[in-house]
Amino acid sequence: MSAQPIRVLSPATGAEVASVPDEGRDGVAAAVARARSAGPGWAALSYERRFAALRRFRDAVLDASETVVDTLVAESGKPRHEAEGIELLYLCELIRFMGRAAPRALKEETRRPFLFATKSTRLVRRPLGVVGVIGPWNFPILNNAGDAIAPLMAGNAVVLKPSEVTPLTSVLLARLWREAGNSPAVFQVVTGRGEAGAALVDTADGIMFTGSVATGRRVAARAGERLVPCVTELGGKSPLIVLAGADLPRAARAAAWSSFIHSGQVCIRTERIFVEEPVADEFQALLARRVTELVQRAPGDGPTHDLGAVTFPHQLEIVERQIADAVEKGARVATGGDRFAGPGNFFRPTVLSGARPEMAVMREETFGPLVPVMRVKDAEEAVRLANESRFGLNASVFGPEAAARSVARRLESGNVIVNDVLVNYFVVEAPFGGWKESGLGARHGAEALRQWTRTTAITLPRRGLGLVDRFVASRLAFPYDPRVRGALQRAMRFLYGTGLARKLGRRP
Ligand code: NDP
Repeated sequence: MSAQPIRVLSPATGAEVASVPDEGRDGVAAAVARARSAGPGWAALSYERRFAALRRFRDAVLDASETVVDTLVAESGKPRHEAEGIELLYLCELIRFMGRAAPRALKEETRRPFLFATKSTRLVRRPLGVVGVIGPWNFPILNNAGDAIAPLMAGNAVVLKPSEVTPLTSVLLARLWREAGNSPAVFQVVTGRGEAGAALVDTADGIMFTGSVATGRRVAARAGERLVPCVTELGGKSPLIVLAGADLPRAARAAAWSSFIHSGQVCIRTERIFVEEPVADEFQALLARRVTELVQRAPGDGPTHDLGAVTFPHQLEIVERQIADAVEKGARVATGGDRFAGPGNFFRPTVLSGARPEMAVMREETFGPLVPVMRVKDAEEAVRLANESRFGLNASVFGPEAAARSVARRLESGNVIVNDVLVNYFVVEAPFGGWKESGLGARHGAEALRQWTRTTAITLPRRGLGLVDRFVASRLAFPYDPRVRGALQRAMRFLYGTGLARKLGRRP
């Protein structure tokens, strides 16, 4: 164990919630070694037994849900509603989907060759071994333990390194995993700082990383050196486009939620709003009204509220810098614009009108309670500006369905949702990944299970064709025979030229 313990501070009050050890490189090495020795036993279990283990874990988490939510709220500052209704719900749904989907997504399959028709190839998918999950601070369940589910179901052991800002929920979930009667070495949490994350990238057989572009690049570069698979979900600058003819009250309500959920500290949130000129005034008035109605306070301070504190104080500086830059370049603060007085990290939800592409708030990720609105001439301009970004994670389009669908198909984004926001993240049946600097690979879907496996393609003589197969094999190998070469030439012309095509009525 190395260095100073990690003090976890409440974003709402600034007080210390708890501390955890910095287990450093040695802690990671020990955890990976344990995971490696437990891995083969876990991989040998049937899908049903692995799913049963995940269900026991889910039961334990649900039984302890009050404590889980208390812990998550204390370290992240987000409303209970989001802790429970988003993070916990997501974990439950992901376990359901991955448990059900794994047998089909990972089952052995046969590929029948066209050319070597005497062969048959069996694809066998096997786990990578130990998958390292490196989690961010904004979703202590969803992007931490949540990212362990697909690798686990695919037969890997997982070592999770949560962010030093919000490690407590992950530590609790690892305890619940063990208390559910599951092998402690199969899912482990190691607490530490960036160095521990780097050590995990140096040793694991596959990496799932969620966080900033800068760190994501370093992680992917190191994984590239080691030639181990690496999946990254990084930043976003997700646009929300409002077309003429959209249901404006609905669009405004959705835009408010999507911009200010978890005080804007969400990678798939709305970071830029483009609204077509004819409906711009009405939409902006509706949005401003919605946002001023939002209730913001510390968790536990009274009944349900919409916005809590900003988890990571550095985000407040980014928000303030971007507001100053935008105002200097001609934007107007339509609502919000300042911090709350007091100990916690609170910033009022802020909407900027009159945004222009050259403003930092339209180009750089904000990741805080600030959203700019820009008027555009038409859908063409909205698509062009939306695509002028180094990110491509998520997007929303509001408008008449045919027009919105057409815009959706032209956006350079891994994910687009029409006439709604955010909930596409819960469509765990579909792969969710980013374009451009928003990341590589995808979470969710059968794709997420397969990416934590490697495939062995086992080619065998096709049943019933053993003799022909032996004959073909004997003709192809040394010593080369000029008659075989002539036969191969004729076969090649017949197969790929017009001969077979005449017989089949189509070219192969
Ligand atoms: P980072 O990318 O720095 O951290 C993410 C995770 O990586 C943390 O667990 C961190 O550990 C770990 N880490 C840090 N250095 C290394 C390294 N060299 N090798 C491996 N792992 C490492 O994000 P921040 O927490 O600093 O957030 C900064 C920005 O990232 C935000 O402003 C936001 O733009 C973006 N972000 C995006 C998220 C998303 O969902 N896409 C989520 C969170 C942040 P530790 O925290 O202990 O340093």
